[in-house]
Amino acid sequence: MNEKNNFSAVIVTIGDELLIGQTIDTNSAWIASALNKIGINIEKRIAIGDNWNQIWDCLEKENQHNSLVLITGGLGPTSDDITKPLLCKFFNGKMIVDEAALANVKNIFENILKRPLLERNLKQAEVPDTCNVIQNARGTAPGMWFEKNNTIFVSMPGVPHEMKAMMTNYVIPELQKRFELKPIIHRTLLTAGIGESFLADMLVDFEKNLSKDIKLAYLPNYGMVRLRLSASMQQSDENTIDNNFKQLKEIVKDYLVADKDISIQEAISVIFSEKKTTLSVAESCTGGYISHLITSIPGSSSFFLGAVVSYANEVKRDLLDVPQELIEKYGAVSIQTVEKMAEGVRKKTGSDVSLATSGIMGPGGGSDEKPVGYVCVAMSTAVKTISTTFQFRFDRTRNIELTAVQALNFMRKNME
Ligand code: AMP
Ligand code: MG
Repeated sequence: MNEKNNFSAVIVTIGDELLIGQTIDTNSAWIASALNKIGINIEKRIAIGDNWNQIWDCLEKENQHNSLVLITGGLGPTSDDITKPLLCKFFNGKMIVDEAALANVKNIFENILKRPLLERNLKQAEVPDTCNVIQNARGTAPGMWFEKNNTIFVSMPGVPHEMKAMMTNYVIPELQKRFELKPIIHRTLLTAGIGESFLADMLVDFEKNLSKDIKLAYLPNYGMVRLRLSASMQQSDENTIDNNFKQLKEIVKDYLVADKDISIQEAISVIFSEKKTTLSVAESCTGGYISHLITSIPGSSSFFLGAVVSYANEVKRDLLDVPQELIEKYGAVSIQTVEKMAEGVRKKTGSDVSLATSGIMGPGGGSDEKPVGYVCVAMSTAVKTISTTFQFRFDRTRNIELTAVQALNFMRKNME
C-alpha cells in the first residue's frame, strides 16, 4: 500500500434513479463532508447508471489516479443491481458465502421482518473472495473493501442510513488507522444585507494578501452570503487561518450576522437565549414557516412562545385585534396591518418581542401597486413597533423562504 500523504479520493454513485432525478444523490454530499472533516480531499464525484460498461470503464480509469474510490449503490438483490458481480469480476474473485453476512440476513428476515427468506435474499450474503467484508448493521447487503494497484475501493449500499453506519463504524476509522491524515480547517462567517459582488469588492486587498494555501469561498444563499476560509493543516496552521479570519471579520463587520457556520435562525436563537427574551410570531404569507425554522432549533422552547398563522383577514381581526377598518383601508398586505399583527400577537402571548409577515407570494394576487413578491414585515416590543417592506421576484416557494429569512434578519438587526 502506498501511504500517500496527499490523499486523493473520488466518489462514485451508482443507480439509474440518480440519472433521471428520481433520487437525489445525497450520499455523495454526506461522504464528501465526512471525509473532508478527516482531511481527505474529494477530487470529483461521479454518478453512473446501473450499466456494466460504464461502471467498468469508470473503475479502470479511477484506479489509475486515486488512492481511494468510494462507491455506493447497486448492491440490492434484484437484477438491476449489478455492482457486486461486476466488482467480483473486476477484482478477479469468485463468489463465496460470508458466514457473518448470512447470519445477519437470516436474523433480519426471521426476527425483524418476520418474512420467509427467498433465494435471492440469500444471495445478499455472497461476496467476492477477494474483498474484506464490511458487515451491514442496518440491512442485508454487506459492504466490500478491495485493494488494487495501491488504490482502495470501498463498495457500500445505496440506502443512505446503511452507508452512513458503515462509513462511521468501519470505513472512516480504518482510513484514519491506515493513513496519516491532516485535517482540513474551515472558518465560516455569515453576512446579510450585502450582495456577493459588493463583498468581493470589499475584499480585493484581503484576497491579494491571502496566502495561497488558504482558500476563500463565497457561498450566497437566501440573500445572505457565507464566507469560508479553508486550509489543509498540511500547508497551513491554525494560527494563520485564525488571524486571517479575524481580519476578514473586521472588514465585513457591518454585515456580520455570525462568525460560525450557522443559519439565521440559529443566530436568532443565540440572541434570544442570551438576552433571556421571549418571542412570538404572527404569520400570514409565510404560513408557519418562520415558526418551523425556529422550532427546528433544539432548545427554542426556552424563548419561543408560539405563533398565530393568521392567513384570513378574519383571523387577523379576531385573534390579533387588527381593526377591520384598517385592513379595509390599507389592505391585508400593508405596513399598517402587519404592525398591528405584530402588536396583537405580542400582547396575546405576552412575549417581549414579536415578528409579523404579510405579503403576496404568487403566482397570482399581484397588482401594479403591490406586485407578486411584495412583503411587509413588522417587529414589535414594549417600546417600539417598526416595519419594513421587501420586493422579491421569485416563485412562491422561494418567496416564502426569502421572506422568512429576511424577516428574521430584520428582527436580528433591530434587537439592540
Ligand atoms: P441500491 O444499493 O442501489 O439497491 O440502492 C438502494 C436505494 O438507496 C435506492 O433505491 C435509492 O433510493 C437509495 N440510493 C441509492 N443511491 C443513492 C444516493 N447516491 N443518494 C441517496 N440515496 C440513494
Ligand atoms: Mg440500485
